[in-house]
Amino acid sequence: MTARMRLQPEAIGLGMTSQRVRDRLIERLRTGTPSNARIADERVLNAIRTVPRHLFVDEALATRAYEDTALPIGHGQTISQPWVVAKMTEALFADGAQPKKVLEVGTGSGYQGAILAALGLEVFTVERIGELLRTARKRFRQLGLDVRSKHDDGRIGWPEHAPFDGIVVTAAAPALVDALTVQLAPGGTLVAPVGAAGAQSLRCLRKDAGGAIAEHLLGDVVFVPLLSGLVD
Ligand code: SAH
Repeated sequence: MTARMRLQPEAIGLGMTSQRVRDRLIERLRTGTPSNARIADERVLNAIRTVPRHLFVDEALATRAYEDTALPIGHGQTISQPWVVAKMTEALFADGAQPKKVLEVGTGSGYQGAILAALGLEVFTVERIGELLRTARKRFRQLGLDVRSKHDDGRIGWPEHAPFDGIVVTAAAPALVDALTVQLAPGGTLVAPVGAAGAQSLRCLRKDAGGAIAEHLLGDVVFVPLLSGLVD
């Protein structure tokens, strides 16, 4: 291969989505940064290594897909920062938990749902913006990921499929949504950003076998708001 041929992918930007660039993100997550604690669960890191995040954003943003940052996906929404996705996912597996069935509220780009599916979980995801959901469904199909989804207000959860071993809410509400906590199975974990814009924290709830709930905080975060009503 000539030097010119080797350089070509970089020149057209493909180099920015190469395995090397993706591995750099994994290393950053594994090591941690002053603002973001390390991600220790290798299963989660492996899922992030495997799922091509650049396919979950507009082509024009693909070269930034492996930066540890949220990116716009249209309709005023964002694909979450990889560290946040990793942190929320890791929380579901903490303390030896072995979740099987999980609910995501806020499908968005489909990236978080794809990460959960790549971990072998049975994934249910709900999105209120029809167009985002249709695009996410195409991505699930293209990647051969088995994700069940519906166009609805995720604040009601998905009662027909409850209880869930894990619930991941990817949009922020002023307070925890009771209907979701109710749909959490004994031993299950719910992770949700809670609080007003500029003052959100990521809350992690674990329901014990008897139904009692213990809670801890995973850090300060910035999420788009959890809204009511459907958009086509
Ligand atoms: N998990 C997504 C993050 C998307 S941002 C990803 O990986 O890309 C949060 C998403 O939540 C947005 O798409 C927004 O439309 C959606 N959302 C906000 N309120 C909602 C609600 N009540 N029900 C379902 N989805 C909601």
